[in-house]
Amino acid sequence: MANLLLLLFLLPIHRSISTVGLTLDRLGIEGRLSTDPADVEDSSVDFGGFARAEPVAVLHPGSVEDIVGLVRSAYESARGFGVSARGHGHSINGQAQADGGVVIEMSRMSRRPSVGSSAQGLYADVWGGELWIDVLRSTLEYGLAPRSWTDYLYLSVGGTLSNGGISGQAFNHGPQISNVFQLDVVTGKGELVTCSREDNRELFYGVLGGLGQFGIITRARIALEPAPQRVRWIRVLYSKFSAFTKDQEYLISLHGKPASQRFDYVEGFVIVDDGLINNWRSSFSSARNPVKISSLGADGGVLYSLEMTKNYCESTAHMVDQEVEALMKKLHFIPSSVFTTDLPYVDFLDRVHKGELKLRSKGLWNVPHPWLNLFVPRSQIADFDAGVFRGILGNKTSGPILIYPMNKNKWDSKSSVVTPDEDVFYLVALLRSALDNGAETQTLEHLTHQNQRILSFCKEAGIKVKQYLPHYTTQEEWKDHFGDKWSIFLRRKREFDPKCILAPGQRIFKRSS
Ligand code: FAD
Repeated sequence: MANLLLLLFLLPIHRSISTVGLTLDRLGIEGRLSTDPADVEDSSVDFGGFARAEPVAVLHPGSVEDIVGLVRSAYESARGFGVSARGHGHSINGQAQADGGVVIEMSRMSRRPSVGSSAQGLYADVWGGELWIDVLRSTLEYGLAPRSWTDYLYLSVGGTLSNGGISGQAFNHGPQISNVFQLDVVTGKGELVTCSREDNRELFYGVLGGLGQFGIITRARIALEPAPQRVRWIRVLYSKFSAFTKDQEYLISLHGKPASQRFDYVEGFVIVDDGLINNWRSSFSSARNPVKISSLGADGGVLYSLEMTKNYCESTAHMVDQEVEALMKKLHFIPSSVFTTDLPYVDFLDRVHKGELKLRSKGLWNVPHPWLNLFVPRSQIADFDAGVFRGILGNKTSGPILIYPMNKNKWDSKSSVVTPDEDVFYLVALLRSALDNGAETQTLEHLTHQNQRILSFCKEAGIKVKQYLPHYTTQEEWKDHFGDKWSIFLRRKREFDPKCILAPGQRIFKRSS
């Protein structure tokens, strides 16, 4: 009966569905396969706001079996079709789109995370489409929380694990992909496989940072720790880039020390100009706490802001002042620039959402976002500063710029992600918004052109950057991006998605039938 109803529902759209070769009567799905124009429209766009590709249909899965059935149909049908898992659609360049294929809306299905403990430690088993904010809320009920985060929590588990998942905790815990014990994955052959460091290792490491190329993550076993209750959050400013990076590198060198002797989070920002659009990523941009670039002797009009936190709970609260003071003594910031706040752990982790709500209320959230994220080797970060922050950008950034270092030894080289070939590398995130406000320097065209100039500058200056959340349009560029890892990436693709069905929006491989 359910199948009959489904068939009746699908009959009017049979023509377009059949163009992708779906065998309707074999798809006894629990969820909903939709060609509703509103669903198709939602799945055709992303946070970037400028890449667009229409799928033929959208699957709202009701179970893992729905995903298995859909991918298997794509694999077995003579002509095949592309299938893209879409987490929360927060990509920039259409990475979760499937032109003429089927998009699976992973975040439309939810499953309550379950918490447990194994020889590896405490963990939560979570649905691949779950948003990190919901993972946090569920695990906090047990007094637990994941160890490694992104700055913004309205991203899906599958989406960040397909890239890396980084924030100021990564120097100590590694990226989110270093904090996963086990995965359930639907491969490009429509097989549901459980994998880990011990079992089906190739699939496990391939999927982590694998840009959705080897399988769809339906379950992830995420490492947890006891959740702190509160956070002491400190911001200081620098006018000298060398002092700023020296201090950042010192702080991340303390990874692995007892918690009392290091910070829990280390991030930095480049401040070229003021205003909400530039500072929504940091809660230190309040009216109570204005940054007056001119009054702080900024070198060439650029200031650098270092943010650190210390987590604590009731039993360790009496130690916080002392521990923070001991660490701050070693730093070389502008003495008058210290700003400290104290807040519940959840409010700290969910800080960027506040910025989102402010931007939404001003109609500044749903605008094009030509973002560029780069990993820059430590040895070349000063050249990058001189050429980009003090050069190409001019005195308008059109969005926050993040800069913070990470330790390469916290990244597993067996995963698919690529990072620079140095022990320490920086994330530089240019998170700009294109605005239609008459200013030529804020147009999408201008910012896109500036991104190209930044990439060209790095190439000409020999700065060996790697794109994070990479975007390329030719396979030659992808080969160059993966470097030594290309052959293993290709081998894993042939093994786990031989017909190149999965995540076509990344534009790495062309589908073969
Ligand atoms: P989508 O955009 O939906 O998908 C991204 C890719 O992953 C696609 O190729 C898709 O096919 C694939 N995919 C999605 N789900 C699955 C799955 N279950 N299995 C396999 N493949 C899948 N990143 C950070 O690391 N740190 C940050 O602090 C950070 N902050 C951000 C803040 C904002 C406001 C935004 C918009 C993005 C931010 N990002 C950050 C980037 C973010 O991690 C990536 O854009 C990520 O891809 C978004 O997750 P998503 O769930 O929206 O994925």
